[in-house]
This record gives sequence, structure tokens and C-alpha cells, in this order.
Amino acid sequence: MTRLTKIVATLGPASGSKTVIRNLVKKGVNIFRLNLSHGEHETVRQWIQWIREVEKECHTFIGILLDLQGPKIRVGKFEHGSINIKRGQIIVFTTEKKMGTVDLIPVQYSNFHKEVGVGNRIYLDDGNLSGVVKSISGLKVTVKMLVGGKLSNHKGLNLPDACISVNPITTKDKADLKFGLQEGVDLVALSFVGSAKDVNRLRELIRKEGGKGVEIIAKIERKQAVKNLQEIIQAADGVMVARGDLGVEIPLTEVPVVQQKILRYGAEHAKPVIVATQMLESMIENSRPTRAEVSDVANAVMDCADAIMLSGETAVGKHATAAVGVMVETALTTEAYMAKTKAIEPWNRFFREDPSINAGITYSANRLVELLHANAMVIFTLSGGTAKMVASPKPMVPIFSFTSSLQRARLLNLVRGTIPFVVENDRHLLLHIEEMLIMLKNKRLIKKGDRVVITTGIPVGIPNWTNVIRVEEVR
Ligand code: PGA
Ligand code: MN
Repeated sequence: MTRLTKIVATLGPASGSKTVIRNLVKKGVNIFRLNLSHGEHETVRQWIQWIREVEKECHTFIGILLDLQGPKIRVGKFEHGSINIKRGQIIVFTTEKKMGTVDLIPVQYSNFHKEVGVGNRIYLDDGNLSGVVKSISGLKVTVKMLVGGKLSNHKGLNLPDACISVNPITTKDKADLKFGLQEGVDLVALSFVGSAKDVNRLRELIRKEGGKGVEIIAKIERKQAVKNLQEIIQAADGVMVARGDLGVEIPLTEVPVVQQKILRYGAEHAKPVIVATQMLESMIENSRPTRAEVSDVANAVMDCADAIMLSGETAVGKHATAAVGVMVETALTTEAYMAKTKAIEPWNRFFREDPSINAGITYSANRLVELLHANAMVIFTLSGGTAKMVASPKPMVPIFSFTSSLQRARLLNLVRGTIPFVVENDRHLLLHIEEMLIMLKNKRLIKKGDRVVITTGIPVGIPNWTNVIRVEEVR
């Protein structure tokens, strides 16, 4: 069976070698996330080169997602690498450029003391430690710690009660973006998005830097983003349920509901959704995940997430390849069950008002797959828009997607069920259906007797134009 749910893996010190990259691809990684907090430009440039080499060697398409860290607030460095904070301890946070000590925590965000208020909560290390602001004087913020623990260099800091003014595209992000586009990344993720305006600003920057066709993933990880979910999803090309920061920026118990909402809006607007962070967290250390983690992965698959993501598991974990293996097995097992039980999403959930011809055709193709017990869909997509539309009712068959650009093929790797192929010329595809079915049959992706639902647009060559459905039985 072809796996429908895509896998995104974050590269880091634990996986930054050609051998590991190759192993991860062979196991099933579809997209690599490059996080510039794990590597300098030189390191990341080398990683990108290895990914491209492995992609060629393995005759596949791999998307590269550059993750811009945005205004992620971090603590500075400590004399001995870390400190131990006790419950109830009074500790001073400062924006002065100082080395941290047992009772002084440097903060790498110059407006920190201006934007926090007395009574605000402070979370450290993804919420593992927390405290409350007691007083503010000059550059110093005095905090009473409510939950203590070990705090090491450069851990994240969240202020869910404060209104952070900073533009989510920082000076570092601009430099990182320029670098990434030069190196030919396919997707850019923007952290701490607050509104559609942030997404549009990034799109403009990408355009100015000549990043043609590069897609934007909005990371939903702030209260503000949850509030503006609809407009953000419409402005972006895809979204990420960034549960790491989200779980401290909003009450942790609300995260599953927000995940559901994002998945639903994503499907409604035909935008791919990545479920991210802590999916197999315990595998950073252990060779086997917890039951709860496997259930989390399986539930994301059952909710038809386009992609599931590994962060620390592959970036710094001891069992990077095994973690991908667990995701692959869990997805395949869950999808096999769903194939017997799941219906496509109802039409009225997607296209409430004035549906387009494209919407009608792509949805009807999905209905035909169900009615005829078809085994696959075949589509032609120029901009990738048709692939996203066909995928949005969440069919349980693979969508073999022919496109004329390598970049498109790599990007399609984020869309649930889509298996990309590059064809030389997109102008006479309807004349070549026979050939394509033979190719798919030779690759053992379809077999004699299978029914295949095909969609395309006539006249050919117009993006997002789909007006033909054809059904073939494989001979
Ligand atoms: P990060 O984003 O790993 O870049 O913080 C994902 C998340 O916050 O969940
Ligand atoms: Mn985050």
C-alpha cells in the first residue's frame, strides 16, 4: 500500500550526515525541515547539498522546508552551561548582555523589560519551568519561580500574557531567508505568525529575493494566530500546528481542540496541515515510543493531517531512523483500517457558497473513486492547486500527480496522498494517459484491473483549471 500521510523530519546534529539523510529518506521522509537554530549557514548549505544528492540517488522527490525562527525569545548563556532553579526562588531576568549565574538569567530580547508586566507568567524550556513577574526596575525583571528545574543555555522563553510588538520577521530571519532562497529551498515556515499581514509580508520578501514558486507555511503557535486562524490559512500555502510553543502560549489542554480546528480549516481551504512537535518525544532517548505517542500519531493520521513531523526526535535524538520507522508503520496500519471504513468528507463542508468548476470536478472525482471502488487518482497539476483541491476531501487512494516542474513535484510532497511525477511537457498530457498508466503499472503502483479516476483541464496549460474527469481500467 502507498502511504498517504507525509513525514517531515527536522535535521540537526544527530542527522546531519549524508548517511543518516539517506537512511531517513529510505525509511520514508518526504520533507526535511532545516532549523537555523541547529546549524550555521555553512552547515546547512552542506545538508542541502546532501539532500539533493540523496534525492537523485534514490530517484525520489524531497521537499526542503526552511524554518525561520522569528521572534523566539531565548535565554542567554550560563557560566556553567546551566543552572538549577528551585521552586519559590526569586530570580532576576535581565536584558543586559551579561553571563548568567545561579540567580541571574540573561534574556536575548532587548524589549523584554518593556513588554512584560507585573503579574505576567513566564515559561521557560517549553513550559517545563515557570514563574510570575514580581517587579520591574530598569533592565531587570524580578520573577518568583513557581516551578523549578534545570535551565540550560539558549532555552526558549514564553510570555503568554504579554503583547509582543516585534515583527515576526526579524533581521536574522531576513538573512536566513536570503540564504535559503539562494540555496533553493522549496518551502519557508514562519514562526509566531500573528495575522495574514505577516504572511503577506513574507511573501513580498520572497518575491523580492527571487524565490519563485516557494511556498509559505504559517506556524500557528500564538494566541493571536489562533484568533486569526481563518485569514492566516487563506493567506498561507499551508499551516503547521506548532504544538511546542502553542502549548505554553495557550492553555495546554486547549491544544487538541485547536489542532482539530486547524485540520478542519486546512481541509476546507485546501491547504496542507502539518502536525508538529513531541509526536514521538520519548524516542529522543528511548528506542521505543510510549503508547500515548503512537496514539497521537495514529490520531493525526485518522484526522487526515497532510503531514506529521519529527523535531528533536531526528534533530538531536538517539533513534532518528527508528522514529521515522515508527511513523511509517503507524501511518500504514492506521490507513489500512481507514481504507475500509472512512468516507470522503461531505461536500457542504468545503464549498458552501458558489463553488468553482474546479471544486465541483475535483470533488466529483473523489465521489467516483468511492462509487467505483477505484484504486487511484491521476491528475495533472501545473501550480499544485489542483492537487490540493483533489486531496482536500481526503480520499483513501493515492493521487498520482504529474507536473512539469521539479520544484512543484517537491512541493507536492506535503499534500496528503500525492505521489509526484515530473513529465517533460505539460501540453499534451491527455494524449499520454496510456503511457502514464503503463509507467505506473511498471512501478507496481497500480495493477491490471485497477480503476483509475483521472482529472485534467482542457484547454491545457491553465493553472487551477480542471474540467474533465475520465475513468480507466488498467489493462
Ligand atoms: P519550533 O516550532 O520547533 O521551531 O519551535 C514548532 C513548535 O513550536 O511546535
Ligand atoms: Mn515554535
